[in-house]
Amino acid sequence: MDYRSVTDNVGYIPGAVNIGVIRNGGDALLIDTGLDKENGRKTLRILEEQGLKLKAIINTHSHADHFGGNTYLKRNTEAQVYAPSIESGIIQNPLLEPIYLFHGAIPIRNLHNKFVLASPSPVDHIIEPGKLSVIGLELEILALPGHSFNQIGVKHDNILFCADTVFSDRVIDKYRIPVVQDVGNHIKTLRALREMDCALFVPAHTKPTEDIKPLVDKNLNTTNSIIEDIKKLLKEPKTTDQVQSELGKQYGLDLNVVQQYYLIHMTIMAYLGYLYDSKQAEIKMQDNLLYWSVLDS
Ligand SMILES: [Zn+2]
Repeated sequence: MDYRSVTDNVGYIPGAVNIGVIRNGGDALLIDTGLDKENGRKTLRILEEQGLKLKAIINTHSHADHFGGNTYLKRNTEAQVYAPSIESGIIQNPLLEPIYLFHGAIPIRNLHNKFVLASPSPVDHIIEPGKLSVIGLELEILALPGHSFNQIGVKHDNILFCADTVFSDRVIDKYRIPVVQDVGNHIKTLRALREMDCALFVPAHTKPTEDIKPLVDKNLNTTNSIIEDIKKLLKEPKTTDQVQSELGKQYGLDLNVVQQYYLIHMTIMAYLGYLYDSKQAEIKMQDNLLYWSVLDS
């Protein structure tokens, strides 16, 4: 981990999650904090090497790999934590992530690991899209819902930290069904991102780019082809598990980790819910099971 400067005020620390850094004199804020204590510790060391004092943390959303470093940083600095609502509920009560993955029931032990269960962090300020004054700077908070319910992006100096709105070609080609919790908003967010005019986009899981359009198109095409593939499968009524099994086979997925199963399952639910709410699919109950089928348009 090291520090990459983009402008005088803005930089980032590259890693499995790129951590944004915005500075004002000797004060700094972070955008996300990585997976765990180790990320928190290394990040703080890098800030110290840069002569910076951590004053604030903005969490873009509540997936464990974006706020797991908070606890260490909160304990060792006076940083105030900022996060959007819904996301902040999970950041303060991280068990909610495995709880929702396990359909609201108490999660099985396989879902008690740091990839879906970070340590809790206080949230000092709930943020809304619009202007936000932190460390004496005015930032712009953008609503980027879809991948997560209330995901936000942070813009300063015309640089946009755009969180998990887009995944790289490599990730998409490997995992085939990137995690999305709200498909309708995911599509709207990608379309809006495509039209944004920023000097640099910094996604959390791939390298920064001046031109986000090719990545947006890859992500939009992926989403649209998943929608079309599910609609084809639903010509015959299917349960959620049947959709998951057949789509998985078609995409060459080999889910052998329980947590992966539940992440994909949630994403397939998001697609099925989207098709249902946009009146492209219907529900039939049979033998106490719920079947989805496509509605001819
Ligand atoms: Zn995420």
